[in-house]
Amino acid sequence: MTQRPPDGAPRYPAVVPELRHPAGTFDVLPPESGRWVSLVTTFARVAASAGYGLVITPTFEDVAVFQRVGESTDVVRKEMYDFDDRGGRHVALRPEMTASVVRAYIQHRPAAPWKVWYAGSNFRYERPQAGRHREFHQVGIEAFGSADADLDVEVMALGWEYYAALGLRRIDLVLNSLGDATCRPGYRDLLLAYLLEHCAELCEEHQGRLGDNPLRVLDCKKPECRAVTAGAPRQTDHLCDDCSAHFARVRAGLEALGIAYRIEPALVRGLDYYTRTTFEYTGLALDGAQNAVGGGGRYDGLVAEMGGNETPGIGFALGLERILLACDAEGLAGDGAAGVEAFVVDFAGGEAARDLTAELRAAGLRAERSFDGRSPKAQFKAADRSGASIALVVGPDEAAAGRVTLKDLRRPPAEPGRLQRPPAEPGRLQRPPAERAGQVTLAREDVVAEVCRRVRARAEVG
Ligand code: AMP
Repeated sequence: MTQRPPDGAPRYPAVVPELRHPAGTFDVLPPESGRWVSLVTTFARVAASAGYGLVITPTFEDVAVFQRVGESTDVVRKEMYDFDDRGGRHVALRPEMTASVVRAYIQHRPAAPWKVWYAGSNFRYERPQAGRHREFHQVGIEAFGSADADLDVEVMALGWEYYAALGLRRIDLVLNSLGDATCRPGYRDLLLAYLLEHCAELCEEHQGRLGDNPLRVLDCKKPECRAVTAGAPRQTDHLCDDCSAHFARVRAGLEALGIAYRIEPALVRGLDYYTRTTFEYTGLALDGAQNAVGGGGRYDGLVAEMGGNETPGIGFALGLERILLACDAEGLAGDGAAGVEAFVVDFAGGEAARDLTAELRAAGLRAERSFDGRSPKAQFKAADRSGASIALVVGPDEAAAGRVTLKDLRRPPAEPGRLQRPPAEPGRLQRPPAERAGQVTLAREDVVAEVCRRVRARAEVG
């Protein structure tokens, strides 16, 4: 942190360093940002379809909010951006969303069931690489107040539906049950005894940290740990009757909905709070190291652990950067930014551009124009770049005659009969409009309605 002089003002370096985004972060600019818009709007639609409402929580919280959810996890121990603020409060940029949403649930005590979705950034100090960033973005849902296995199915199905809505086909759902307070401690002891027997074969980090949380070893990707955990006892073989019945109902629900899944006994996920159902979505088209495109699970003890009433909960978080990588790997380019629909080219003083863009926008269309009295050539170039399918051209002749030339910028190839001159409304157009290939001149007062008609017709066809 920059040292502060006694008056409390930050001390800036004498030379401004090269202005770049910080390591492990990135900028998203148009048109690429259009893909992000559709990632979030698609998620909002899927979440709303099942009655989830948007929740917004602060990007930073008192550090205790996160410490309480994962004292033994890397995310909290090694990767957190925490610091003292000017008031001496120890705060942290959120490394994940669930803890913040649980804090909000406890603070506001909404009626249960409480089903919410979110979208936003998280921060983890990790080694940056493809699909692993220091600031990354997630969408997710959390549902509080029901332990019903059918809710687990609803949650997993919504994630599944989201990937499908984006066009992703090569996603695997990996499932496990971690038991609960009844059967987990017994399993933990069994696992610990097994790992202690093989302690010398584990990776260095886990040899030293076995007692913290032996389940974490199951998550270790190092080959030496993997070799040991391959023969380890499995939680799914040691579930109590209730957890076993819950897990069976979850599996039956997924099968009833036609959602394929694979049981993975080593799936414990990185955070401490999970109970019973845990799951991950993997992108089969992605490189093995960073192929988790999302994950989640049940956390029936977390609300009480954080100071609230006993309240079961379940949720997931899906990583947008990884989802985009999966889209790229599956050849889904996305639409990019939705360009404008109409562009006003005005080289008769700019008044028509000013007024027509306002009218077009008021009519619900996306409309653009050039500024600074640029040449017709430059304006047409800008119109092409804008993605508009229609240019509205006002030169001195049109301006004098109170008319506007409407020009198709993207005429559909050889489909006769489409996008031709509109049928004249009797009595409206006095003179037959002068029409050249792909362009027609209309009275000024008819032009907005005609652009609306054409854009609508284009949308219906395409
Ligand atoms: P987690 O909160 O660790 O369960 O992560 C949920 C999802 O967020 C993962 O499946 C990834 O898709 C994504 N994710 C986690 N950490 C990162 C990161 N450092 N950079 C990019 N995406 C991440």
